[in-house]
Amino acid sequence: MWHPLQADFPQQQPLSGFQRGPDTLQAGEAVGIITCGSGCIRPVEDSMNGWLESGFYDPKKHSKLVVMGRRHGQPLLLRLGQRGEAKAKNWPNLRSWLLQSDAESFDLLATAAGLANWQEQHRFCGRCGSKTQPRNDEYAHQCPRCHLRQYPRVSPCIITLVWREDALLLARSPRFAAGVYSTLAGFIETGESAEQALHREVQEEVNVQIGNFKYLGSQSWPFPNSLMLGYWAEYQGGEIAFDGIEIEDANWYPFDQLPELPSKNSISRYLIDSFLQWKGVL
Ligand SMILES: [Zn+2]
Repeated sequence: MWHPLQADFPQQQPLSGFQRGPDTLQAGEAVGIITCGSGCIRPVEDSMNGWLESGFYDPKKHSKLVVMGRRHGQPLLLRLGQRGEAKAKNWPNLRSWLLQSDAESFDLLATAAGLANWQEQHRFCGRCGSKTQPRNDEYAHQCPRCHLRQYPRVSPCIITLVWREDALLLARSPRFAAGVYSTLAGFIETGESAEQALHREVQEEVNVQIGNFKYLGSQSWPFPNSLMLGYWAEYQGGEIAFDGIEIEDANWYPFDQLPELPSKNSISRYLIDSFLQWKGVL
């Protein structure tokens, strides 16, 4: 019986209290500021969550900051760190913040990181090369010459737990923390459906054929701008084989002999835990 269990995963709930998009600010309004640079977030002492700076909007000081939106009515601004500042001051990287975040912090930090990355990489028009300008009614940069609009990039990826009657297929990439095994993932190519990407990626990575897909949910994964679409996929055939580069190990694991798994804050872990719950072993 299909049992989705979707309510367990925080990214499937509406993000209460956060209204996305630019807005006009009044001088003196109380604001929150996140500072982000080189994939790191500046820590803020004495803040509730460790990263949100409190202040009052000063057009002279703050007009160059990106307005992320309003959180419980209060403007939330993004400041881009100076080049080299994050490293020099030893700011923790985004991944370490996200792994310890609650759902709201996860979404706000992922948004800040995505916007910061976009600001840094879309300063010029991709069509005519002119310097772009931010629009004040949506997350977009517009070219003043040819009017092309550029939006923050989101790159859809599939991520899938491959299962068979008695075991889960888990693999590790050299980028993972030591000992951790996870589900398989990859970018959807242009012109391809999510389901076609599932077939192709799993075949390419571990030489296995799959089917019977179940969509479980999605998660923003800002490294640098992925949107993970999470599935279960049933094994249909093939012997595990991998290239040793992108995938350095992959195996079938019986439900009661699983290796070390990814963080509870990740959709990969959600795919695994919800499957074990569905099978009645968790
Ligand atoms: Zn242009």
